[in-house]
Amino acid sequence: MPDPILKIRGLAAFYGDFQALYGLDLHLDAGEVLAIIGANGAGKSTLLRSISGLMRNGAEQIAWRGQPIGALRADQVAEQGIALVPEGRQLFPSLSVEENLIIGGRIGRPGPWSLRRVYDLFPILEERRHQASTSLSGGQQQMVAIGRALMANPDLILFDEISLGLAPIIIRDIYAALPGIVDGGMSAILVEQDITKALAVSSRVYCLQEGRISLEGASGTISREAISRAYFGME
Ligand code: ATP
Repeated sequence: MPDPILKIRGLAAFYGDFQALYGLDLHLDAGEVLAIIGANGAGKSTLLRSISGLMRNGAEQIAWRGQPIGALRADQVAEQGIALVPEGRQLFPSLSVEENLIIGGRIGRPGPWSLRRVYDLFPILEERRHQASTSLSGGQQQMVAIGRALMANPDLILFDEISLGLAPIIIRDIYAALPGIVDGGMSAILVEQDITKALAVSSRVYCLQEGRISLEGASGTISREAISRAYFGME
């Protein structure tokens, strides 16, 4: 077996005195789609923030292609090929759709993703390319956020609750784009409140509970009972 592309060992994360993650161990193989589930406040966003460098951690706690990246800044992590689609999208409100996308590509990593390819994935964005990003619907804004991350040509894309607050039909459209994103071998970690969705698109799943991993398993075989226990801490 080749080494995992991402290896997390004993990850601890703090907001001041408050500890949000307690010694997490997690791994991701190249090309794998991993789901992270768990109740509100379990630490899912904190995990993604830690991987993407928005929170700094012990250097050795996160290894990417065998190199310690836990203490790197977000821009340095992005240069290594890890892109985050943040919770709440965080678009640049004064910029157009196309300008937001172009900003995503500014680190200049080579790869298959370009404006053309993002527009092929989400044709509505080409129609709206000159509009202010904030004039778009929530679902379209989410597409911009995903497109912006893809423009960095990452090897790993982190999705933080991309379906939050969106209508079911829009969520379906966004998830329909996922195979086209990971087809070329890109790995993905997906934080998702909707367990059915999370299991359907991932090969493996981790459940977090109060900053600890309460369950890990293959998405296709894990039982609903086990997930309920891991999710809510019920015995
Ligand atoms: P949600 O689904 O609500 O986003 P989550 O699983 O992503 O939940 P996190 O956002 O990672 O959870 O939060 C983990 C813990 O850290 C929670 O107890 C939360 O209150 C706390 N926390 C998150 N952000 C901060 C912050 N900026 N300052 C202090 N505590 C924080």
